[in-house]
Amino acid sequence: MDTLLITGASRGIGRATALLAAQRGWPVAVNYRNDARAAAKTATEVQRRGARATTVQGDVSVEADVVALFDKARADLGPLGGVVINAGIVAPAMRLADMSAERLQKMFQVNVVGAYLCAREAARALSRSRGGRGGSVVIVSSAAARLGSPGEYVDYAGSKAALDTLAIGLAKELGPEGVRVNSVRPGLIETDIHAASGDPDRARKLGAAAPLGRAGKPEEVAEAIVWLLSDAASYVTGSILDVAGGR
Ligand code: NAP
Repeated sequence: MDTLLITGASRGIGRATALLAAQRGWPVAVNYRNDARAAAKTATEVQRRGARATTVQGDVSVEADVVALFDKARADLGPLGGVVINAGIVAPAMRLADMSAERLQKMFQVNVVGAYLCAREAARALSRSRGGRGGSVVIVSSAAARLGSPGEYVDYAGSKAALDTLAIGLAKELGPEGVRVNSVRPGLIETDIHAASGDPDRARKLGAAAPLGRAGKPEEVAEAIVWLLSDAASYVTGSILDVAGGR
């Protein structure tokens, strides 16, 4: 099978996606920014499931890192067939009136510019007119894109809305190239990301008010992502799939 590259796969949703994809036969390139040990653990778990794996350090908000990470994934595991644009950040919960320009710049640099750079490299690697073999790109957005996240992080919400629009436009650009592009919008999912907003228990607490009565698990988001990557979703492109327990 062709290679799957997942950004931010050292933990959380990216890690769960790596493990499920490995079970379905994908060799997986595990990108991370800081935590080499956690990334190596994900890679070992991928291998335990019978798939090849490599780890690739790189900050998605730095263009040279993004180019190098696509190169290393291909060099280590062979031609790409799938890319999951998952790495993302939040910042401490506050109202827009209290946000610094530095915070806004970082949020949009990582979540928007970083995702666009990864999407650009995916387009270059997968497009048939550029020597690619076609494939599937899944962008990890957020339910925040439609909720707006007032009082918590309207910056994050806006950064994710940009990614939904990217999925719609890029799907139209790349359809004729044999590349499908879709967005997945997780709701409140139990991962470490909430600690960065100031409340590690945020997902569990707020998840209780979701129509399904609980927060989601990273594995439940991974199911949607891996389905979109697969041939079972062969006529699905430009779609935005909520995995948010009805929230
Ligand atoms: P997480 O547990 O905090 O994991 C984030 C991952 O992204 C880590 O592997 C981290 O690597 C990596 N990362 C962060 N910044 C990076 C950068 N600049 N370059 C490369 N890698 C970077 O987060 P998660 O909850 O799994 O979230 C994954 C995605 O789902 C994010 O885009 C998030 O916005 C989205 N999402 C999450 C939720 C939720 O409730 N959890 C809801 C909606 C959407 P290191 O560990 O090495 O730093």
